[in-house]
Amino acid sequence: MDDVLELTVAEALRRIEDGELTAGEYFDAYAEAAGGDELGAYLWTANPGPTATPPPPESETRRRRAGDSLRGAPLAVKDIFCTEGIETTAGSRILEGYRPPYTATAVRKLADAGARLLGKTNMDEFAMGSSTENSGYGPVLNPWDRERVPGGSSGGSAAAVAGRVAPWAIGTDTGGSIRQPASLCGIVGLKPTYGAVSHYGMIAFASSLDQCGPLTRDVTDAALLLRAAEGRDACDSTSVGIDGGVELPSREDLDGLRFGVPRELSAEAEGIEAGVSEIFERTLGKIRELGGEVDECELPHAAHGLSAYYVLAPAEASANLARYDGVRYGLRADADADLIAMYERTRAAGFGAEVKRRIMLGTYALSSGYYEAYYGRAQRVRTKIADDFRAAFERFDYLVTPTSPTVAFKIGERTADPLAMYMSDFCTVPMSLAGIPAISIPAGLAEPDGGGAGLPVGFQIAAPAFDESGLLDAAHALERAIDFDTRPPGVRP
Ligand code: GLN
Repeated sequence: MDDVLELTVAEALRRIEDGELTAGEYFDAYAEAAGGDELGAYLWTANPGPTATPPPPESETRRRRAGDSLRGAPLAVKDIFCTEGIETTAGSRILEGYRPPYTATAVRKLADAGARLLGKTNMDEFAMGSSTENSGYGPVLNPWDRERVPGGSSGGSAAAVAGRVAPWAIGTDTGGSIRQPASLCGIVGLKPTYGAVSHYGMIAFASSLDQCGPLTRDVTDAALLLRAAEGRDACDSTSVGIDGGVELPSREDLDGLRFGVPRELSAEAEGIEAGVSEIFERTLGKIRELGGEVDECELPHAAHGLSAYYVLAPAEASANLARYDGVRYGLRADADADLIAMYERTRAAGFGAEVKRRIMLGTYALSSGYYEAYYGRAQRVRTKIADDFRAAFERFDYLVTPTSPTVAFKIGERTADPLAMYMSDFCTVPMSLAGIPAISIPAGLAEPDGGGAGLPVGFQIAAPAFDESGLLDAAHALERAIDFDTRPPGVRP
């Protein structure tokens, strides 16, 4: 049964269809593997065997309508998505014990298409972080090297998929939280266009940036997952779905496609490791071999993306996190104190250091005396960055950069230096601010600066808004040419 854990979901579904594998065997193999997870990837896992409670009749009808295309495929879900009756913490102690009365639309849509909940994955508290070390429930280990971080904030989802304890997963990306952990764990991660997938039931960090997307072993699985999850949702007025849906990728060459390499975010940019640059250049060579054109381009304001992001995201977070007051959800500290003291003690005890830092930064940036100087200016930078992308896409079909400036770093290496941690998203934040889709695919292995065994390097491709199908097609052609082996050495040898 062991090789079941090596199949992509698309391959497993084919076997189920051909009668070589049953949906129950497929789920149970993963439920057992997830139950034995040694990476700290999960906060909750399902038991093997038939589901305890049969799905309600209404969802049965919906499932039939959706064609049951995912046939019971196990799905790992970042613990930021509400799941009815199942503890949902967003990696925070302040939500310990919170059992939502409803399920997030993205999760419900995947369930309607036939996916079955395998587990809830560990994450940086409220998705704030790049290493999953900010989880209130302990760190996640990178399956390529257990002394290193898996990236974050969707580190549990990425480590589970790479470590063969989940076939695929969903995560959220606000500034890089799907793409960067995918890069550090050697898998595929896609941040769709803002609004492609509903926010309903996805615990808010920075609402104008948060976006749900897939973490998978290959590009086809990413398309398969997104196809089932995307769509307009009456419960989220910012959701629009993807016009025409998502096509499964089939492209084998890149003939006639123009790829722009933004100087500000590529090899020349500061802080990019030598090994990462080398793989990036090699991948550009592969694009040319496949018939694509590669040329330099400019995104003049992209280098200011991180500065704008660290005003805007904390500002939105400070408002979104005001609701955790000990009255409505989860933790309540010192219930006998007066109301204000109870609020203060609950928030002091329930939030971790990074979340407190963001609330303070955001509250300051939004205060009346500084609003224009910080928030207003950051919004203008955001508009300029979106304009830069629009101009670049007049000349190019896609833009490419390294996903992360470095390979996976050591646990503890950046915890004392928030700015070093923030730099992890230098290449991913600009696309988030512009709201455009971007994918990270594994491109090779590189030694970290300072030496050591080879670790995965991600290659990022960004596309104009709502061109997910084209983006997935191009990524698929490139993925075939790269032929990366996503299996970490030492994982179930
Ligand atoms: N690392 C970034 C942050 O800490 C992005 C996180 C995310 O995309 N959720 O905010």
